[in-house]
Amino acid sequence: MKKLTVFLIAAVCSFAASAVFSAPAVKAPTEKRWTQTARFGGADSVNRLVLDIRHPLDLRVESGISFDISSPDWSRFSRMLVYFKSGNGWYQGSFEIEGEEACQRITVYKRDITGMEGDPSGWGNVSVVRIAAYRAATAVGKAEISVSGLAYVSASAEVLLVASGKKDDSCLHYAATFSRTMDAAGIVHASVLDHELRADDLKGRKVAVLPYNGSFPEGKESMILDFIAGGGKVVACYTVPVKILSAIGIRRTGWFSAASGAEAPFTGFLRTESGLKGQPSFVPQVSGYAVIAEPAAEGEVVANWANADRGDSGKPAIVRTGKGVFISHVWAGGATPDKVALMQSVFQALHPDLSRVFKRRRDEIARLRRESEAELMAVARVAPGERFAVWCHTAYGPDTSWDKAVGVLAKAGCTDLIPNLCWGGHAYYRSSVLPVHKAVSARGDAYELVKEACRKYGIRFHVWRVCGNLHGCPKEYRERLRSEKRLAVRFDGTEMDGWVCLSHPDNLETEIASLEELAAKGAPGVHLDYIRYRDRDTCFCDACRERFERFIGGKIDGWPRAVRTDRRLEAKWTEFRCGNIDKIVRDVYRRVKAKNPKCEVSAAVFHTWASAPDQVAQSAAKWCGEGILDFICPMDYTASTSFFANSVRDQLKLAGKVPMLPGIGLSCWRDNGDDARLFARQISAARAEKAAGWTLFDLNERGYNAVKAMAKGK
Ligand SMILES: [Zn+2]
Repeated sequence: MKKLTVFLIAAVCSFAASAVFSAPAVKAPTEKRWTQTARFGGADSVNRLVLDIRHPLDLRVESGISFDISSPDWSRFSRMLVYFKSGNGWYQGSFEIEGEEACQRITVYKRDITGMEGDPSGWGNVSVVRIAAYRAATAVGKAEISVSGLAYVSASAEVLLVASGKKDDSCLHYAATFSRTMDAAGIVHASVLDHELRADDLKGRKVAVLPYNGSFPEGKESMILDFIAGGGKVVACYTVPVKILSAIGIRRTGWFSAASGAEAPFTGFLRTESGLKGQPSFVPQVSGYAVIAEPAAEGEVVANWANADRGDSGKPAIVRTGKGVFISHVWAGGATPDKVALMQSVFQALHPDLSRVFKRRRDEIARLRRESEAELMAVARVAPGERFAVWCHTAYGPDTSWDKAVGVLAKAGCTDLIPNLCWGGHAYYRSSVLPVHKAVSARGDAYELVKEACRKYGIRFHVWRVCGNLHGCPKEYRERLRSEKRLAVRFDGTEMDGWVCLSHPDNLETEIASLEELAAKGAPGVHLDYIRYRDRDTCFCDACRERFERFIGGKIDGWPRAVRTDRRLEAKWTEFRCGNIDKIVRDVYRRVKAKNPKCEVSAAVFHTWASAPDQVAQSAAKWCGEGILDFICPMDYTASTSFFANSVRDQLKLAGKVPMLPGIGLSCWRDNGDDARLFARQISAARAEKAAGWTLFDLNERGYNAVKAMAKGK
């Protein structure tokens, strides 16, 4: 492997070295320094400080940038977003500040920038880097940020990852998950967006990685085909153009989907008898979709998909030929020793000389995991009265049964499980209010399964409802709501498929009755999520207009623009929207308690309590003041323990007597292999701020790994 080209610049600030990655190569395009100030609090308070770094950057094949950032007081901020202006749009992502050190060295990797606004034209012509530092909710006074020491982060490598530049978050997301595992595995690689790919970029490379490239911009697919014809190898995932698939000797034969619920998702990669050197016998990954494919001539299936019971489904998951490797779904990511070993085995099979550093890398990963888990075990003992809650986004849990998973949770000290059994338009249990999901006949009534497991292990459960969101609901139900004019409408008048109108009395009744039904069943708790409008863009249906006009007692000229241009109307509009959501929370609390006084009512809410009423009509502080929640879980998802603590401190002042279990966003962090360490630090921060406990988001594979580590410590 070529050595990294290193252009060192004087590092003025403390370098918060990542736990896994070695120090990046840097070169400095400029010596300039930029400073910006803002005034927080008071009548004209701004919500964020914006610093624009106006300097042209060519990041087409670079890995990212690094810079020194300093502020006299980091406690004034709750979040850092970063934007890169390119052409008529922006790439958008975030970075973290950790600790109180005034000056810090930050590295922003291109792969971590997965959002897009407008129509960005590529990484080759970035004209502005914008840093948006968001105000901590109760911060008052002058805020200041300076940036200097701007530098490129580069990798000169034999592997090139070609990411699809489509304006679809998941393409960039899965390019990033693949890239991070490669990094953890010691596979140095450069990356480029497909529309910026030049034939020269592939010269001298040994492997091209196509993490999620369903199609290519004109002229680019032939560059990949020429690369293969010239002896280059390809690692491709999931949907990839047929010509490329056949050029590496693979034939597509079918398609798997668990979307209908009739079949359970696959659970991981099972090594076959023709498995690769160093490939683990099983590597977990939950996949609801797969392209079924086989070697066209010579080659082997090296892994099959495991089914829900971890048995062999007989469906190929990884196929290898002399020209490449095909993974039949997107790579979900991970830096655990088994995932790293699988990734290494794939690259080693294509190019044995890439494997020089692999053993050392596996040892480093294993050591990191041990240290990280030891830190978590040290804080894992849940004190009397303290609550350790866990959200689980899947109705059937992270293991082969709820009984097994709840057993592990109990051992880890978990007190409350919040399983997502209920959506806007379907339930994973027998319901007379909502359509029942198909999975119930295939896999059982999830409410009963959770109830039995929680009874056995002494854990309280709270049925999590995703309010008003129709994701996954039966088509007929959606069509019925459409015909009854119950779907939400955007500002531009278009109807939204996936959301209901939140002023329609029948929709409000469904929200409330679905939770009342659970209380009547004897549920120990119900949990409101998405208890808000989707965003400022809804709901502008005709009935919302009528109801709003009744609310203000008069007709509106220039609907809907007027609610955005007339300040008096805008305030009334916010009041009207908040009133609709407040009514749901109030009525849920009243009717749930009437059916079952012991049933707890709780909610997941945004971390920005000051701006959420205006943005999405969510009034967390008001609900706490009224005492219509038994506990509240703000989604304080950040990898920065400092920002987490800032948010918790602010929210506790507003939550008053309502117990608060701040959400720790483990599955939202970039997966660098040190989840357990960060989780431990945020638990400690919640304790230090005297929160009533904490809530883990969520019980997916990563969260479950952390919980298992806590259980080990007992
Ligand atoms: Zn409406």
